[in-house]
Amino acid sequence: MQIRKVSVGRLETICYILGLNNEALIIDPGDEPKKISRFINAVGLRPIAILLTHGHWDHFGAAENLKKIYSIDLYVHPEDRKSVEEPSSCAFKDYPWLEVFAAKPTKELEEGIMKIGSFNFEVIHTPGHTKGSCCFYFEKEKVIFTGDTLFKSGIGRTDLSCSEPDKMHLSLKKLSRLPDDVVVYPGHGPETTIGTEKSFNVFLDF
Ligand SMILES: [Zn+2]
Ligand SMILES: [Zn+2]
Repeated sequence: MQIRKVSVGRLETICYILGLNNEALIIDPGDEPKKISRFINAVGLRPIAILLTHGHWDHFGAAENLKKIYSIDLYVHPEDRKSVEEPSSCAFKDYPWLEVFAAKPTKELEEGIMKIGSFNFEVIHTPGHTKGSCCFYFEKEKVIFTGDTLFKSGIGRTDLSCSEPDKMHLSLKKLSRLPDDVVVYPGHGPETTIGTEKSFNVFLDF
């Protein structure tokens, strides 16, 4: 499986393009749909689905556009569906401009093993940053996409209006049980490994 990154939008969200057998999974297309589709077309992949790690606008701003261009499904956890359909429902204030990012998910993510096309992975529900935050774990490839739940040397904020701070600890504990050599691809910033975070990230001190 090839993993490619496209940095998009004003918060420099990383959109991941996973490639396998000429098929592509798009994780967190946060903004700049043209940049993402040009990239996908240039590498010659056929998108088969869009996955969202959570319902924040900087992770799904290009989702509706790409869903329509490629006629593919958009997956999100049911707890974050509303914030994708009405982005300002998950903001401190009502920012009318946020509505331009709105998208309509067509499928729901469920915790457990998932198969989409050639891709086999596990959806791990990790509430905290948002109620419906999920991580996508590819056991065979030893990689995990953590959205805004786990970063290199940090974790996502849990003081936002759609956060669930009480659940973050348990979610991080779930991630800390993965093998040390699993590579972590976060929604912002550089990649790391579970082992490195267990050693140096104060929030993963179990
Ligand atoms: Zn977020
Ligand atoms: Zn983010």
